[in-house]
Amino acid sequence: MTVETVQVPAYRTFPVQVAQVQRLSPSFLRVTFTGPELDVFASNGFDQRIKVLLPLPGRGIVDCPAGDDWYGAWRALPPEQQMPIRTYTVRAARPELLEVDVDFVLHGATGPASAWAERAVVGDEVVLVGPNARFAGPTGGFEWHPPADASCLLLAGDETAVPAICAIVESLPEGQHARVLLEVPEAGDVLNVAAPRGVEITWLPRQPAAATIPAPRGQLLTAAVVAAVLELGDRLAPSPAAELADVDVDSEILWEVPDDTTARGSSGVYAWLAGEAGVVKGLRRHLVRDVGVDRRSVAFMGYWRAGRVSD
Ligand SMILES: Cc1cc2nc3c(=O)[nH]c(=O)nc-3n(C[C@H](O)[C@H](O)[C@H](O)COP(=O)(O)OP(=O)(O)OC[C@H]3O[C@@H](n4cnc5c(N)ncnc54)[C@H](O)[C@@H]3O)c2cc1C
Repeated sequence: MTVETVQVPAYRTFPVQVAQVQRLSPSFLRVTFTGPELDVFASNGFDQRIKVLLPLPGRGIVDCPAGDDWYGAWRALPPEQQMPIRTYTVRAARPELLEVDVDFVLHGATGPASAWAERAVVGDEVVLVGPNARFAGPTGGFEWHPPADASCLLLAGDETAVPAICAIVESLPEGQHARVLLEVPEAGDVLNVAAPRGVEITWLPRQPAAATIPAPRGQLLTAAVVAAVLELGDRLAPSPAAELADVDVDSEILWEVPDDTTARGSSGVYAWLAGEAGVVKGLRRHLVRDVGVDRRSVAFMGYWRAGRVSD
């Protein structure tokens, strides 16, 4: 008798529809997706990333490839049939209700994802590529790996990292000391977060009031991270300032993350930083080269690049 082993992929496609659209603030739109197969969407939490395959004008999701090698099938399509793919964060997953929430930053109709979100209505279809609960091992797809004994956490990011940081914060145990720094477009984008005791959140609106000139992107976040690192002092900077290979954020992805086996944070401090790649690059240069932070303690992630399409 031949026994066939069926390989279940860690990530799979989920055809879904918009069930609800909720404007959280001037810049954030929460879309709740539903679909009959979301019962096997793995609810890992933290900064779980997914891909969103967006409908093509006039064709919808008809060209969306399914199957284990959906990406190979997508690549094999003629360019005009390739649905745009963008990366987002699972703000919340409720597989028991067949629901997944994604918080979209509205940055105008400059990209297919933001343009789609601005017009999204109940019933619109997209395809999510997300973690598969039927997969036997860890599905991965998130970078939150603090050491178990972390005594202090630093989370910092721009608006695109707000969904990830909020999900992480809401998962922290009561009493865990954490500093959270969030740069957002304007004062109205300060959101309610169910932060446990011990978490100190600072919102940094680039435009604190109407009719004021907005601060340049990244300026407030950079200053706040530098100040927080100074406060942590030697706890985050145990080694002399280190050499650093440059990352060309216009041609490469800035993604330097300690994994769960290397994240040690020699002093129990762990930092997670994400946002516009040029801003994160500047933070990495300052923290690693000038201050000498222990790179095993910090995740640096470029979530998007100003002036470049995320393809
Ligand atoms: C792991 C990960 C998780 C992410 N999670 C989220 C999330 O939960 N919510 C979210 O909104 N984004 C998230 N992002 C960022 C998102 O993928 C990018 O912003 C993406 O470029 C949006 O696609 P688009 O089609 O709207 O724009 P694109 O077609 O990629 O870009 C078109 C133009 O818009 C600019 N642009 C892109 N994003 C922004 C922005 N936020 N503000 C201003 N200009 C922008 C680009 O520089 C480009 O000039 C995440 C990225 C990663 C890597």
